[in-house]
Amino acid sequence: MPMTVTEIRQGLAAGEFSSSEITRDYLARIAQHNPTLNCFISVTEALALDQARQADARLAQGKAGLLTGVPIAHKDLFCTDGVRTSCGSRILDNFVAPYDATVVERFRQTGAVMLGKTNMDEFAMGSSNENSHYGNVANPWKTTHVPGGSSGGSAAAVAAGLAAAATGTDTGGSIRQPAALCGVTGIKPTYGRVSRYGMIAFGSSLDQGGPFARSAADCALLLQAMAGFDGRDSTSSETDVPDYSASLEQGVEGLRIGLPKEYFAEGLDSRLAGVIDTAIDELRKLGADISEISLPNTGLSIPTYYVIAMAEASSNLSRFDGVRFGHRCANPVDLEDLYKRSRGEGFGEEVKRRILIGTYALSAGYYDAYYLKAQQLRRMIKDDFQKAFDSVDLILGPTTPEVAFAIGAKTDDPVSMYLQDIYTISLNLAGLPGMSLPAGFVDGLPVGIQLIANYFDEARLLQTAHQYQQVSDWHLQTPEAFS
Ligand code: GLN
Repeated sequence: MPMTVTEIRQGLAAGEFSSSEITRDYLARIAQHNPTLNCFISVTEALALDQARQADARLAQGKAGLLTGVPIAHKDLFCTDGVRTSCGSRILDNFVAPYDATVVERFRQTGAVMLGKTNMDEFAMGSSNENSHYGNVANPWKTTHVPGGSSGGSAAAVAAGLAAAATGTDTGGSIRQPAALCGVTGIKPTYGRVSRYGMIAFGSSLDQGGPFARSAADCALLLQAMAGFDGRDSTSSETDVPDYSASLEQGVEGLRIGLPKEYFAEGLDSRLAGVIDTAIDELRKLGADISEISLPNTGLSIPTYYVIAMAEASSNLSRFDGVRFGHRCANPVDLEDLYKRSRGEGFGEEVKRRILIGTYALSAGYYDAYYLKAQQLRRMIKDDFQKAFDSVDLILGPTTPEVAFAIGAKTDDPVSMYLQDIYTISLNLAGLPGMSLPAGFVDGLPVGIQLIANYFDEARLLQTAHQYQQVSDWHLQTPEAFS
């Protein structure tokens, strides 16, 4: 069974193995399984072995940092100095970033080893990883099925033991949904908790980076490395970062958990509802105080998100023009031709759809009807949560309405694809932290439960998830072909 980050740290500290040894093991597993799973776009073998050697030296000197020697992977949306950063797009296929994203820099400083860059939906737009220029990612639990998206490569890599942990980003569900579909643990922090510097922007007011790992305890370590103020990101928060691992052992006795009735209504597969009920019973047995709450504007979150996310994307993606970096068309006749053909050739279908809709929503005459209206609804969605948090400490529900679906099943129906994020998207609109953790299986495919906390209360999410993982072993299951 693949090791957790916690086990790797212990093994390294005790001298049971070296970082170089386990890094070689992971690279061998990637060589063996990536042809089936396609979760890596780039494997940085030489860099990984070099970082592992440095980590071993640091360990030998007794100067280990939080993650020294731990092999991880980064979503190919985080800029990595000297390493291709494609964002899953043809337009950035030849882009080698000239600097590290803050998240990447922090992992490097703490001594983590980077195995490579993971596959993703182009510009993080999607829920199935089928929108990548580099092809689909297969779900390790059933390779005919999607891993979720947009951070599908990161989730699949952790589930199959091709990396001990991985980074992702979540604009509307892209950490939590693939975590649920691949049976791993993932956390989307509060907006502003993790720096967005060097994270290629999709919807700037929604995007947030976070980790995937095999347990909540591992996520606590990773978030510790990632979180904190960064002067290079103007939306980064100055709120203190607590010691996430320190509070994990606190029980959940008396913790007030709300179940939004809108999350358990029509649209949720009844078999998933059964799995979630069992998880709720476990938490009740641990002493949590469970009650029903209401988030009345839940139904507005998808249309609100798709106006805001597409508007912001259309603006963010205007920088890819074939002039400064990325793909440039051959033999342009003039500047307009250069723009049109470079973008036309470089972007995929879903990205183009969103740029068109977003540009339309922002255009003069439509702005008030769409963008402004969406911002008003966004406030109402945020207010729902604030009201709920007057009476509960945490909110619990499904992460997704169904388990992983077959590759190709929804590619012709963007609206059905958009509905995958019905339970995750409202948190991004509100800026709240959320987490998905494994809670069982339906048809041999993992089911995730989602925990939602108030602003900057990630410690409580991690603690509650950890307590649940002390009495359950869903998170420890590994797909047979990769065990
Ligand atoms: N699935 C959603 C979308 O396609 C969310 C993606 C994300 O969180 N990056 O926009």
